[in-house]
Amino acid sequence: TPLSIAVDGPSGSGKSSVSKAVARSLGLAYLDTGAMYRAATLWVVREGVDFDDQSAVAAAVRAMPLVQTLDPVDPGVALAGQDVAEAIRSEDVTRVVSRVATNLDVRAELRRRQREIIDGETRPGGYSAGRGIVAEGRDITTVVAPDADVRILLTASEESRLARRSLEVRGTADAESVAAMRDQVLRRDRDDSTVTEFTVAADGVVTLDSSDLDFDQTVAAALQIVSR
Ligand code: C5P
Repeated sequence: TPLSIAVDGPSGSGKSSVSKAVARSLGLAYLDTGAMYRAATLWVVREGVDFDDQSAVAAAVRAMPLVQTLDPVDPGVALAGQDVAEAIRSEDVTRVVSRVATNLDVRAELRRRQREIIDGETRPGGYSAGRGIVAEGRDITTVVAPDADVRILLTASEESRLARRSLEVRGTADAESVAAMRDQVLRRDRDDSTVTEFTVAADGVVTLDSSDLDFDQTVAAALQIVSR
């Protein structure tokens, strides 16, 4: 059976870039589940649905026409045929994504779609069902794919996570930028942790701490975990 790898971690842990590199190196498909929550958020905004109306938000997400391509070199995200890969990374989406992600009916719908993709029942945008996959997020090792062949929790110290996010979003990791990112990153992790556990490894999940590793070392360590 095709290899399935689940990776979870908080923001700034490097899980997206590490997961993509692992998928590339092993020739696997790549699923970014955070992109699904981000796309759902953008969809709710564009549909003009009131964020406080939980059932309307869930209904909108159930009808969301989302297609992700699973290519780790260039993962595509399309909403109603429109490329939103950049739009879902905007500050406006990042600021409110936890509000949509803490809606339990939204989670049920997106988890269902994630399982279909991981199991290969639906693979929109290519990558045949027979291909293995790396899926990353906050609840993949525990809830979405607890039976994955390899499960990794990618962690990093608060300091290095903030520095990475700052570099990603602001292009610099000087003290001022890191301080400015701090509240947003920590608040999002706190909000997310009310519905997902991504700080403590569940039974059978291997913890990989990347605080003192550079990118290549982290990828090498992840590949080593996969091969043992
Ligand atoms: O990983 P990323 O930062 O793109 O995730 C965006 C948001 O999506 C997270 O802050 C969280 O609210 C939500 N998320 C989630 N469960 C996942 C993946 C992401 O709740 N498996």
